[in-house]
Amino acid sequence: QAKVQGRARYKLFNSDMYANALAKLQLETDLRRAIERLEFRVYYQPIVSLTKGSILGFEALLRWQHPERGLLNPADFISLAEETGLIFSIGKWVLHEACRQMQAWRMCHDSNLLEKISVNLSLKQFSQPDLIEQIGQILHSTGLDADTLTLEITESVIVANGDKVTATFLQLREMGIKLSIDDFGTGYSSLSRLYNFPISVLKIDRSFISLMSANKKNLEIIEIIATLAHKLGVDVLAEGVETKEQLAFLRKLKCEYGQGHFFSVPLNSSEAEALIMANPLW
Ligand code: C2E
Ligand code: MG
Ligand code: MG
Ligand code: MG
Repeated sequence: QAKVQGRARYKLFNSDMYANALAKLQLETDLRRAIERLEFRVYYQPIVSLTKGSILGFEALLRWQHPERGLLNPADFISLAEETGLIFSIGKWVLHEACRQMQAWRMCHDSNLLEKISVNLSLKQFSQPDLIEQIGQILHSTGLDADTLTLEITESVIVANGDKVTATFLQLREMGIKLSIDDFGTGYSSLSRLYNFPISVLKIDRSFISLMSANKKNLEIIEIIATLAHKLGVDVLAEGVETKEQLAFLRKLKCEYGQGHFFSVPLNSSEAEALIMANPLW
């Protein structure tokens, strides 16, 4: 509206926008200091084997313990981290911390129960020419086996510049690292590309699971994705499992893994450790 009112161009930058810009700048300043001030935390959400019913590992989920604003979720700061390039150092920190913690747990608990640590990587992180080297160094310094590590990427990574990214993925696979496609079903990846990607897990987006009982179509979509994945030789993980009915249905479809509030919300490291020791069965 401001644009059409030529005489009121000042409206293009009103006080709300000023306040927003200022808040963003403040957040950026805070974000720049957050690593050195040790304000980031990794939370862990269990990944459950639906065949065994036990915990198979965890997904690492980033949190920011902001000094004034409390515990922030990725939605509050990840896009800013990407815009500013801070995602590179933050992402490296998350990878290192998650691998370190997983290795520590594997050393003092039954490592058969802890086969998997899954870490989210955004598209931008794949533009780093030294990504492979970085990950190699982290595995080396933490002592974690490469085949324990899974990297989660969204379909946007497959859609974007296929060839270069595919080469990176092939290198990762050669190292023994697994790849999973996050939020599957919400993006636009072509099936042929998907077929050519070295993927080990498809994570069905939470939206399909949560609407599963409301709408028969969603049920069918889940079934189709599961069939597709299994045909490609890829395992299926259902995100956002919240009820025992959903769990029963996913088991019927032979989904290999599940994750969601029905099992557990994301936990801080000591809560996660307590859960490992309790070794629950679903
Ligand atoms: P995601 O990888 O798809 O992670 C799953 C999100 O769903 C998490 O939100 C988790 O807390 C939430 N969730 C899990 N189970 C349930 C459930 O049963 N019901 C509901 N309503 N929600 C559930 P979170 O932790 O806020 O993370 C949001 C997104 O931020 C992640 O989505 C991921 O894309 C991104 N993210 C998280 N950590 C990192 C990171 O270290 N690096 C990067 N680049 N992105 C990250
Ligand atoms: Mg994820
Ligand atoms: Mg997801
Ligand atoms: Mg998601």
